[in-house]
Amino acid sequence: MCRGQVVFYYLGLGSNRGDRAGNLVNAVCLLGERGVSILKRSSLYKTEPLGVTDQPHFYNCVLKTESALSASKLLEVTQEIERSMGRRRSIEKGPRILDIDILFAGDRIIRTNSLTVPHPRLHLRNFVLRPLLEISPSLVHPVLKKTIGRIYREGSGKGEVLLLTADAGWPEGEDLPINHSYGVLIPDE
Ligand code: ADP
Ligand code: MG
Repeated sequence: MCRGQVVFYYLGLGSNRGDRAGNLVNAVCLLGERGVSILKRSSLYKTEPLGVTDQPHFYNCVLKTESALSASKLLEVTQEIERSMGRRRSIEKGPRILDIDILFAGDRIIRTNSLTVPHPRLHLRNFVLRPLLEISPSLVHPVLKKTIGRIYREGSGKGEVLLLTADAGWPEGEDLPINHSYGVLIPDE
């Protein structure tokens, strides 16, 4: 079988229903089981909902991953994980058990009917920018041609973001379910 080229995918995860931290931990595990290796994982952040504001706060994190899956196949995988965790597509921008967005696919620019990468609104969302800043401040946005650090400092992002501690149910350091089974941490590019 022909193995695809390995790509560094950055994923944004969010949940604002049920056990929010538990949902994200589950999602990380399920991604690992489906051919997506987790290289870095941000802390967990509690964030203000944007758009539809009359809903619970989200828990968000960002993952740096690598995978031989194509971007369209990865979207299928992430949507299948969302569904398997009980997400139903009802109110747009409304409460969800799990949302997985593909933020970057290396430095590729993808525009198809079902997929736009880099994610077209990531620079407007502090719930994405803040965790990205934590794990990859020097990553360059291939469309805006700016680093995450610069985009964050320029202040296009909206929404309040609060760093959560381990008490919030997000395992830290060596306790991570991801560390032993998902390979070594690699330095940032
Ligand atoms: P949102 O994440 O914007 O709140 P959804 O998760 O319901 O909304 O996604 C809606 C659609 O966005 C999906 O059906 C998917 O095809 C499309 N989409 C386009 N680009 C991306 C991307 N980079 N990551 C995830 N979904 C995307
Ligand atoms: Mg989404």
